Amino acid sequence: MFTKQVSGQWQCPCGCGQSFLRETGLIHYADEGEAVYRLHFLKEDEEGPQLWLLLGTGSWLPSEPRGSWIAVHSWLKDGEVIARIEDPDVTPFDDTDVFGERLLMRDEVFGQPGGAEWVFRCHDLIIDRHQRTREFFGAHPAS
Ligand SMILES: [Zn+2]
Repeated sequence: MFTKQVSGQWQCPCGCGQSFLRETGLIHYADEGEAVYRLHFLKEDEEGPQLWLLLGTGSWLPSEPRGSWIAVHSWLKDGEVIARIEDPDVTPFDDTDVFGERLLMRDEVFGQPGGAEWVFRCHDLIIDRHQRTREFFGAHPAS
């Protein structure tokens, strides 16, 4: 389900100087479907684990020929993973994180029929099946 994984580091967006793991790869969410993902793990000392997912697609809007990206923020609440698609200005990302392509607004994601469903389907597959993400959020290793 996950291929071409490359691991690196990213700087904590709060400016504390810590760096955390970033993993880029391909998610094969269906027989004929794949998307680029970038997982940004974030775990500050006094806070619970947070994940910033960037999901890359082809052109999303008719007016935008560039490839497009969607940012999803997730965190734990009462033992459950909560996820929210975020506007670019509240994400820790800039152009380089999306390779100079387009980071979409929430409204642009929800404005496309089935768009948000697709995003959460990919997100949930990562939460359920991606081993490092499972461990990060405290799930037991997949059997
Ligand atoms: Zn920090």
